[in-house]
Amino acid sequence: MLMLWSILALAATTDELASWARSLDRPEPGEAPRAAGYRFAGPVFEDLARRAEERPGVVEVERIGATTSGHPIWAFHVQEPGVEVEDSALVFAGIHALEWISVEVATELLVELIDHPVRGQRVTVIPMLNPDGRLKSEVDLLADDNVYRRGNGPNVDLNRDFAVHRAVEPVWADILPARYATSPSSLSQPESRALDALLSRESYTRAASLHAFGGYFYAPWSGRWRRPEAWAEHLELGRSMEAAQGEHAYRTRQLARWGFFFRARGSEVDHLYGEHGITSFLIELTRSGWDPRRPFRSTREYFRWYNPVRPQRHVDRALAALRVLVRRASIP
Ligand SMILES: [Zn+2]
Repeated sequence: MLMLWSILALAATTDELASWARSLDRPEPGEAPRAAGYRFAGPVFEDLARRAEERPGVVEVERIGATTSGHPIWAFHVQEPGVEVEDSALVFAGIHALEWISVEVATELLVELIDHPVRGQRVTVIPMLNPDGRLKSEVDLLADDNVYRRGNGPNVDLNRDFAVHRAVEPVWADILPARYATSPSSLSQPESRALDALLSRESYTRAASLHAFGGYFYAPWSGRWRRPEAWAEHLELGRSMEAAQGEHAYRTRQLARWGFFFRARGSEVDHLYGEHGITSFLIELTRSGWDPRRPFRSTREYFRWYNPVRPQRHVDRALAALRVLVRRASIP
């Protein structure tokens, strides 16, 4: 009986996902020329709902929360049915509204996992943690408005909304206070709270938050110059991801050491590691959307900064790394 109930609940969630996806925009090709090569959220989630429906034992759809404007936040848990879970990993994307490439990568990873779940592994993928910001950026693109968008519905930067390392290191506090802004308080936004609640419920050993751009596997700490205790583990996994990417691989670095003055306070990567003990990376996908064969309309072509035309080769390079992260493989 319990089994039947959980199957029915699962089907209801997948239906809810499908009808939400259908309620979103699906522009005609060419209607949003700046977005060429990228799918809109509606078709992305409609496709995922269909795939989830076809593989009920493999993928479990969960609504982990809702945004300020009431949009659901979706997580997909994938595992091989009937096989004991030995280890879990998490990949999430779309924290920053304009970084559509991250959503493409997370979605392709998810589709691959649904077709080929990893034996003994539970992998959770959140393709779009910030649907409010993303959907606003879709409206911008359809209107051909070149808007720089990073935040969520109320325009808070979720990448600065987490609990760990919110305070400024004393040495910098008086020198450059404005450079080190955070959100108003720890976990002030529904998106961050939904992620934190998921982290408390599940037991992930590795995680990646996908961003653009830069071409780096950024390990904690982002808010402190000193190395994290588990630096060696991070470096080893980072090097394995580099090896899997081969030529033009991204580079592994500690995020705070991006620059001498740089600190990201209250970032998700420090929270994942510091609060939940997860070996974690903030991955800056691609080395920007700059393409000499397709010059920008202006230097402030915001969507193209983050999202290269013809994203497939960037998606492939990212997947090579993420396969290592989700499989716990030790690559020589
Ligand atoms: Zn970002």
